[in-house]
Amino acid sequence: MAGENSVKQPAQLRLLLLLLFITLWLFLIFTILVTRKNFKQEQGSMPLEVIVGIGKQNLEHENLISRIRDDLKIHKNLEIKILLGPYRYVTGEGLLIFKLKPPGFLMLIDKDFYQKLTPEEKTALIAHELGHLTNKPVLINDITANIQFQIEADTYATKYAPPEALISLLDKANFMHDGVKPIGYDLRIQNLQKIKLDNQAH
Ligand SMILES: [Zn+2]
Repeated sequence: MAGENSVKQPAQLRLLLLLLFITLWLFLIFTILVTRKNFKQEQGSMPLEVIVGIGKQNLEHENLISRIRDDLKIHKNLEIKILLGPYRYVTGEGLLIFKLKPPGFLMLIDKDFYQKLTPEEKTALIAHELGHLTNKPVLINDITANIQFQIEADTYATKYAPPEALISLLDKANFMHDGVKPIGYDLRIQNLQKIKLDNQAH
């Protein structure tokens, strides 16, 4: 019996260690997932003051902003401010929001994403976000309307940046989402390819 035990024990011990190892890994993966989810939720529900507080104003595009201001006849009392910050989980790559005090628009741009862009893609991004001001009102704000809003903003942005820059901007955004294409991606690309061809024809 003693001999039998000494043979069995290492095997049982190995099994036990293996189970312990697997349990630890599962625990680690679970913890990472829960922490990430909470982090996303916390950022998503941040009040505006906090969102503004974690960003830094960017003044590189004042010239572009004033051109778009003139073009869209944006009232001089409306402020337009670009903020770069860790906004990936708050707004995605970029988002234009209306603010009340003082009245105007805040453009929230994720700084990690921004740093990966070429000057042309940066122009495309800023012009796209401000291009949302041209969105035509809809009765129901559903997915179809949202895709239409994106297409309108893209089209507007091609006044200031080549369609190629918007296409590569979209591709860089996809890469940030581990290659997951956003809704409406194909339609947006089709629209930009069409503008590209139209530009070449003229
Ligand atoms: Zn957009």
